[in-house]
Order: sequence, then structure tokens, then C-alpha cells
Amino acid sequence: MSKERERAYNFSAGPSMLPLEVIEDAAANLANYKGCGESVMEMSHRSAEFKAILEDAEKNLRDILDIPDNYKVMFIQGGGTLQFAMIPLNLLRKSGKADYIISGTWAKKAAKEAEKFGDIKIVASSADDTFSYIPEVKREDFRPDADYVHITYNNTIYGTHYPYIPDTGGIPLVADMSSCILSEEIDVSKFGLIYAGVQKNIAPSGIAIAIMREDLIGFAKDNVPTYLDYKIHADNGSTYNTPNCFAIYIAGEVFKHIKNMGGIAKLHEKNVEKAKKLYDFIDNSGLYKCPVREKDRSLMNVVFITGDADLDKKFVAEAKANNMHNLNGHRSIGGMRASIYNAMPMEGVDALIAFMKKFQEENK
Ligand SMILES: *Cc1c(COP(=O)(O)O)cnc(C)c1O
Repeated sequence: MSKERERAYNFSAGPSMLPLEVIEDAAANLANYKGCGESVMEMSHRSAEFKAILEDAEKNLRDILDIPDNYKVMFIQGGGTLQFAMIPLNLLRKSGKADYIISGTWAKKAAKEAEKFGDIKIVASSADDTFSYIPEVKREDFRPDADYVHITYNNTIYGTHYPYIPDTGGIPLVADMSSCILSEEIDVSKFGLIYAGVQKNIAPSGIAIAIMREDLIGFAKDNVPTYLDYKIHADNGSTYNTPNCFAIYIAGEVFKHIKNMGGIAKLHEKNVEKAKKLYDFIDNSGLYKCPVREKDRSLMNVVFITGDADLDKKFVAEAKANNMHNLNGHRSIGGMRASIYNAMPMEGVDALIAFMKKFQEENK
């Protein structure tokens, strides 16, 4: 027992696992970053060293996501949640109307925040079936004069993911990709704004990344607080004030790591393989059930139940004792959730399935 515990398979929905290579390299450079005599935690955000970190991070993100030149990349504090407010404050620029699709708790929160600032219409919702599917919407469902349409591309809590990109007929599409960014290739040009809190697939918590089409920047009204204006971040290269330097540094290391392992297409292949293995096991187990409609299932957040809340609790506790952490579902819905983000190795999925089999045997 005195031995230091091994690193666990952490199935947390966020903050979540980072690539071990990145953590170990950061540890080796923690006190003295690449021999510059300072740690990234201590260095000036205006220094040449940090400037290089920031520029490389942006460049590598642009490379792996294939971001077109007419999009700005911004690192902004306040996580995904602050984006819920920045979006209406910047994008309600003509009619003051925006259309939201409600596919879960995060989508609801985003819409609720926007309602403080404009005329928000819920054009579709999957609340009628506990958000177990993604609503299907057509171009005609949106108000033609809406300033933007908002979707939550991957629903972290309910384990769903859009199987399609809604056709908005030219209305800028805004997507919360907090829990799926970098897990799959994306045609960025289909979106006006993509944003993501970083603590699921990219870095330690505390910032969001916003990827925004240039012609949508610069419409914040005069009374919008300076920090909440995207133009401030775009014009100042994400250093209007002191950014979260360490999170940006780790994000950059993760982008490099993805590039070196063959890019997002390669990662996506692995993610499909991991998720398929787990869903196939669940569907054929006889004990576990996934409540999500098959074509809308998330590759990142795999939600399942036994149908017996006490047994679910026992499962989560025993898994923890077996070095598999945070398998509990979100506190709002219970059950189980295995978040298998980019950094979860196949061995983690295999270990989980082996444990699930054993648990099923023991609890017949
Ligand atoms: C985690 C999450 C958020 C919130 O992110 P914070 O950084 O905690 O504000 C928003 N949207 C989605 C889809 C998420 O998964």
C-alpha cells in the first residue's frame, strides 16, 4: 500500500486525461523551460519565449484542423461558459434574433444566457425523450433574419453527437465543440464560430478556444465589456491582458502531439475503434444499456445504465477500486458515463470492458 498508486484510467468528462507524453515532457521542462532559465508559469507573456509558444500553438492548431485563412483563432479565459455570453453580445448584430437547438444541458445554458440579450427562439429540442437523440432540422425551421444559429455539437452529459451539420441557408452557424474538438475532422468553413472549453480534449481548464470567421468580428456594442469583445482578442493576438500562459502552452504541446501521431484523421480512426468496441459490448451484454439512438451516439462520451440505480452506484465504486475513475454519469442524470477522449488509450477501453464483464458475472 505504501507504493505510489499507478496512474488510473480516468473516464472523467472533464477535466480529463491528457497524453502522458505531454505531461511527462511538461514535467521535465517545468522548472526551466527548454533551458531558458524560467518556467512557463513564471515567464512574461510578452517575452520572446512565450510569443513563440503562442504562435506555434496557433500554427499547429491551424494545421491539424485545416483552419481557413479568413478565420481568427483566439485563446480566451472563462472556459466554455463565458462563451455563452460573448456569443450573443457579439453576434446579435442586426435583427437581435438568434435560433437555438436544445440538445442537452449545455445547449439550454447557452440559450438561457443569450435570452438576457436578445430575442431567442428554440427551434427544436430533444427534451421530450431525455435528450437521447439529436433533433433533425431543416433550413425552413430557422427565422430567415436570425443573426445566428447555435448548436451543441457533442452533448457531454447525454452522450449524443450531431450526425449532420444543419443547413442554415447562410445564417452563421455557431457550434459548441467543447467535448469533441480535435476528435474528428471538421469542415471549419461550414461554421461562423466554433468554440470549445479546453479541459476535455486539449489542456488544463480555464480557457476556451474560439475559431471565428473574420467578417463576424467587430460588432459588439459600445457597452459590451472590453474583455467580452472578440475584436479585442483578435486584434491583440490573445494577449490583450495576461492570458492563461500555462494552459496555452499545454494546448500547444497537445497540438504538436496530434500532428506527430499523424493528425486528426488518424485520431478519429482510433476514436471510432474505441467507441465501437464499447458500444458493441454494451448492446450485446444483456445487463448494460445505452439509451442513446444509435446514429446520434457520441464517440467521446459513452452513457450507459443497468436499470438499477443501486447497482449503478456499486459499479462506479468498484470500478474506482480497480483504478478506473469517474465512471459516474452526470449528477443530473445518474447512471454511468465513460468519457473516452483522444488521450484515453485502447488499453483503457479494454480494461473497462473486462471489468464490466466481471461485474456482470458477479451480479447476476
Ligand atoms: C464542459 C462543457 C462546457 C463548459 O465548459 P466550462 O469550461 O466548464 O465553462 C460547455 N459546453 C460543453 C458541451 C461542455 O462539455
